[in-house]
Amino acid sequence: MTGQKNNVVIFLGPPGAGKGTQAERLAQDRELVKISTGDILRDHVKRGTELGQQVKPILDAGKLVPDEILIALIRDRLADMDSVRVIFDGFPRTTAQAQGLDMLLEELGAPVNAVPLLEVPDEVLIERIVERGRQAAERGEAVRSDDTEEVARHRQNVYREQTQPLIDYYSARGHLYRVDGVGGMDEVYDRIVAGLK
Ligand code: ADP
Repeated sequence: MTGQKNNVVIFLGPPGAGKGTQAERLAQDRELVKISTGDILRDHVKRGTELGQQVKPILDAGKLVPDEILIALIRDRLADMDSVRVIFDGFPRTTAQAQGLDMLLEELGAPVNAVPLLEVPDEVLIERIVERGRQAAERGEAVRSDDTEEVARHRQNVYREQTQPLIDYYSARGHLYRVDGVGGMDEVYDRIVAGLK
């Protein structure tokens, strides 16, 4: 990846909006590295690392892991990159995390390029999450312990209280654009790409 231009994209949107799927595809098309903090944390839980043991109850309850932990995780991930070509999925989730990220990116000389916001109505979100859990169970796969209706609703509230302020944060900096997240996967993807300069 040496020599390629820095590129930083942040996917914003509520739990169940489809950030992970869309970010994965964009990462492949644009040769970016997807950094999904939910996946990283779940991997620690699965491997039973010290961090995993510490955060498991937080994930199970649908609460947020402390900002310092997240910022340290991201700092490590960015440290060994030649050029910073990344898509963040699930980070930042609080204003403190956004400020922490800005500091890291400034040190690296890699400012934020774009922040697509995936918008999906609340009721569709809960439906999608519960359905995701049901389908995983049907296929005999591990069901995310936080994909129950109750915890999903809690994650929605946490999003509203802690993460929604980031919409203003990135709007004020001219990075944010809104994407209608209802529709087929290809349809939504085309909207995301159309909004990227
Ligand atoms: P979703 O977007 O569907 O809620 P994620 O996989 O992004 O799922 O996150 C799952 C859980 O991991 C969150 O509910 C939270 O406990 C933890 N987590 C992930 N990213 C962060 C973050 N940036 N800050 C704090 N906690 C996080």
